[in-house]
Amino acid sequence: MVVSTNKPLLNYINGEWCASQGTELLDVLNPATTQVLSKVPLSKKADVELAVTSAAAAFTTWRRTPPTTRVQYLFKLKFLLEEHLDELSGTITDECGKTLKESKAELQRAIENVEVACGIPTLMQGYNLEDIARGIDEIMIRQPVGITAIITPFNFPGMIPFWFLPYAIACGNTTIIKPSEKVPLTMQKVLGLIEQTGLPKGVVNLVNGAKEVVDGLLEHPQIRAISFVGSSPVAKYIYSQAAAFGKRVQCQGGAKNPIIVLPDADQSMTTRITADSAFGCAGQRCLAASLAVTVGEARDWYPNAIASAASNRVVGYGGDDGVQMGPVITKPSQARIENLIQQGIDEGATALIDGRQVKIAGYEQGNFIRPTILQNVHPQSNLARTEIFGPVLGLMHLETIEEAIELVNSSQWGNMACLFTNSGAAARQFRYEAEAGNIGINIGVAAPMAFFPFSGWKDSFFGDLHGQGKQAVEFFTQTKVVVERWPQEWSRQF
Ligand code: NAD
Repeated sequence: MVVSTNKPLLNYINGEWCASQGTELLDVLNPATTQVLSKVPLSKKADVELAVTSAAAAFTTWRRTPPTTRVQYLFKLKFLLEEHLDELSGTITDECGKTLKESKAELQRAIENVEVACGIPTLMQGYNLEDIARGIDEIMIRQPVGITAIITPFNFPGMIPFWFLPYAIACGNTTIIKPSEKVPLTMQKVLGLIEQTGLPKGVVNLVNGAKEVVDGLLEHPQIRAISFVGSSPVAKYIYSQAAAFGKRVQCQGGAKNPIIVLPDADQSMTTRITADSAFGCAGQRCLAASLAVTVGEARDWYPNAIASAASNRVVGYGGDDGVQMGPVITKPSQARIENLIQQGIDEGATALIDGRQVKIAGYEQGNFIRPTILQNVHPQSNLARTEIFGPVLGLMHLETIEEAIELVNSSQWGNMACLFTNSGAAARQFRYEAEAGNIGINIGVAAPMAFFPFSGWKDSFFGDLHGQGKQAVEFFTQTKVVVERWPQEWSRQF
C-alpha cells in the first residue's frame, strides 16, 4: 500500500482498497516536525455498512475453515511483520513520535500475539464428559461470535490492534478495525501485509475515521463484539453503548500508575527503571509511572537520583540516533500537559525539573516537553488523580508500606502499581493487597506478555475478559453445550 501525502488514505473493505465516503479529511502529522504525512478521511456510517456486509459474507466460509488452515495465514503474517519490522517501526516513529527502539519493541509484542494465536487449534478446544447420566454425554464447544470490531488509541499503533485481531480471526470471526485517526498509517501498512498473506477477502476490514465510525460500529446489529482501548471517558461510553445494543464488549481505559520505592530498594536499578517507566514513550503509555511514592529513608536518595536521570534524558526526533524520548502526540496534548504541570504547581507542588517551553534544535515546530518532576504532590490534589499522559512524574512521601498501599487502593484507577524493594515479605504483601490489574515488583512497566491477559481494574477497565492470550480466546468465542443420548438399540439397527 503506497501512502501519498496528496491523496487521502483508503479504507480496506472486502479485500479491496477503496475511497471513504467521508469528504472531511484530517492531516496526519509527524509530532516531531508537525509536517503533514498524509490525510485521513473521516468515514461515514455508510462505510461501516459496507465493511459489515463484507465481514458478514466472509464469515459464512471463514468459520467453516479449519482452525489449522486459519492459522496458516497468521504464520505468514508473522514472517511478513518480521520482514517489514524496520519499515513499520519507521512509520510508528514518524506518526506517533516514539523512538525507533520503542517502535520496534511494540511490534515485537504484536508479533508475539500473532504467535500465541497460532496455537488456536489447542487454545480453542472445549471439553466433555461421558456419562453425565447413564448413556448420556455432554460436550462444550467453542464457536466464533461472528463479526467483531476493534477500536484503538494513538499511543501504540502497531501493538494494540494485535491484542485482539489475531485471536478474533484465528477463532473464526471476521473483523473491522478502526485505528486512531491520529496515527492511521501503521495499520494501513499492516493491512497491506495482511493482504499479502492471501487471507480471504472480507475477513479483516479497515475503516478510517473517528466518532461517526465508532457509533456506526456500536449501533450495527450484525456486529457481535467490540474491543476498545483508549481514554476512560470514551471507554465508559463505548461500554455502556455496546451493552445497550446487546454486544459483548471489552474496554481498556486510562491510568494513573503509582510506583512505591522502599528504603531497601536497589538505588541505581530503581532509578533507571522508574525513569524509563515515567519518560519512555514520552509518558504516553497506559503503564507509565505517574506518581513515585518514597517510603521512609528512600526520600534521602530517590528525588535527586530521579531528577538527575530526568535531566540527562536525550529528547528529540525518535528516528535520530541516541534520542531517548520523542515528542508528545499533538499541540493540544502539549498544551494540556503544560497546563497540568502549572496546575500542580498552583496546588502546592514544586518543580524539581520543569520541562516546559523547550525547543529542540532542528525540530523547533515539534510538540516537545522535556521530562518534568513535581515534588510534594498532595495526595488529595487534582494532579495526584488526573491522568497526565505526558513525561511528568509526581513525587510524594509516606512513612510506611501500609500507607503506600492505602494510597494505591484509594485511587479510582487500577491499571498498574509497582514496588521497588529487596524484601520478599514486602513484595508479597504488595502483590497480595494492591488493587491494580498489573503489578510490578522491581519492574517499572509491568506489561503482560502476549500469553497473559492485559489486565486492568477499576476505571482502567470496563468489561470482564481482557485482551491477549486465553482471555482473548474466551472473548472471541461463545460456548455451546451439547447433551447427547444415543441409545444402543438404535445403533444395532445398522
Ligand atoms: P481516545 O479515547 O481519545 O481515543 C481512542 C479511540 O476512540 C480512537 O480510535 C478515537 O477515534 C475514538 N474516540 C475518541 N473519542 C471518541 C468519542 N467521543 N466517541 C467515540 N469514539 C471516540 O484515546 P487516545 O487519546 O487515542 O489514547 C490515549 C488513552 O488511551 C489514554 O487514556 C491511555 O491511558 C489509554 N490507553 C489505555 C490502555 C490500556 O490498556 N488500558 C492502553 C493504551 C492506551
